[in-house]
Amino acid sequence: MAKYTKEDIFRMANEENVKFIRLQFTDILGTIKNVEIPISQLEKALDNKMMFDGSSIEGFVRIEESDMYLYPDLDTWVIFPWTAEKGKVARLICDIYNPDGTPFEGDPRANLKRILKEMEELGFTNFNLGPEPEFFLFKLNEKEEPTLELNDNGGYFDLAPTDLGENCRRDIVLELEEMGFEIEASHHEVAPGQHEIDFKYADAVTACDNIQTFKLVVKTIARKHGLHATFMPKPLFGVNGSGMHCNLSLFTGDKNAFFDPTGNLELSDTARHFIAGVLKHAPAFTAVTNPTVNSYKRLVPGYEAPCYVAWSARNRSPLIRIPASRGLSTRVEVRSVDPSANPYLAMAVLLKAGLDGIKNKLTAPAPVDRNIYVMSKEERLAEGIEDLPATLAQALDNLKSDEVIVSALGNHIFEHFVEAKEIEWDMFRTQVHPWEREQYMTMY
Ligand code: GLU
Ligand code: MG
Repeated sequence: MAKYTKEDIFRMANEENVKFIRLQFTDILGTIKNVEIPISQLEKALDNKMMFDGSSIEGFVRIEESDMYLYPDLDTWVIFPWTAEKGKVARLICDIYNPDGTPFEGDPRANLKRILKEMEELGFTNFNLGPEPEFFLFKLNEKEEPTLELNDNGGYFDLAPTDLGENCRRDIVLELEEMGFEIEASHHEVAPGQHEIDFKYADAVTACDNIQTFKLVVKTIARKHGLHATFMPKPLFGVNGSGMHCNLSLFTGDKNAFFDPTGNLELSDTARHFIAGVLKHAPAFTAVTNPTVNSYKRLVPGYEAPCYVAWSARNRSPLIRIPASRGLSTRVEVRSVDPSANPYLAMAVLLKAGLDGIKNKLTAPAPVDRNIYVMSKEERLAEGIEDLPATLAQALDNLKSDEVIVSALGNHIFEHFVEAKEIEWDMFRTQVHPWEREQYMTMY
């Protein structure tokens, strides 16, 4: 059921004295794009008549097929609370359509909806996501550029005065609540300068919209505190990186399809097949859930990030953990995802992997309740525990040979994604890093 009608939007814009509307969408690499229109153009926008040049957006279309239309999703109407002074600014998240009225296959949001339809054909009604994004706060210099200086020395769940980022984080939470977010918790994370804010789960499309909005709000408010917020996965060597654990569940109506009070660990067969599918396709979907060169600096032993393809109901070292709550909150926590991922693409590949497990009734291996970090390679092999890819290049090779995950992206996104990421890898590969000079300059 839609939350708002066109009339509601006009009324709210009027009542709140909104002067500008940002029409937002996300490109293939996960960057938010927006076209700002004055209020006089609202009617045209709500009639799906706003056009933009698709060829100017990374990985979208060629010059000769460049006209694209923005179809606003009315339920995403939000007024940015920090824009009050010269007339308020509101935003609407849009789907992208071709001139002939068909959804554009390079639109990550529309692509996720396509996979959600496949889910519905299997009898489920909802795919829920509760994300746990982590980020770092660094000080800005006089020129407002980010430095490597942290603004606190806090650790996990620390309180002020160590946690100077606390005021900033509190402001972020207040802004988010004003925008309708339900914040479940916010705390200092393990590394100095690192924070986490958890918001309530929602259906996958809404949760992905929320993640995109969340990043924008965190960066905007941090700036007001003289800080730079970064979602890069591993900004500092030697301390934890930033993940974005994804708590996933499938529902049929109001019934959690992962919960079965009579099952082992109170998990249903559906949950076990879903887990099996996620484990099977992990080597390939990692290219999407961990899409930067830097992502693989986080997926190393010793920093609470997973490096191995396994699951556990207790332990935090594997790729998948099953948090203790049962009943409606029974869920699968995928711990490898990092916040540099395009959330819409990440959800499309995770859902597709899980559905593949359900469709083919794949069997999950036994859960691993030992700390995998301390197991030797031989012990891991004996238990059938594979490594996650160690580099972006490896992950891209795995992606290219997994038809199921390729089909979760569709050809257009797959081709543009791989092309952009191979260039990224190649640029990195040919750089000479300071570490190499430190090691070799005097040695040779
Ligand atoms: N920061 C850790 C990671 O890279 C996760 C810490 C936690 O368990 O919340 O995934
Ligand atoms: Mg955390």
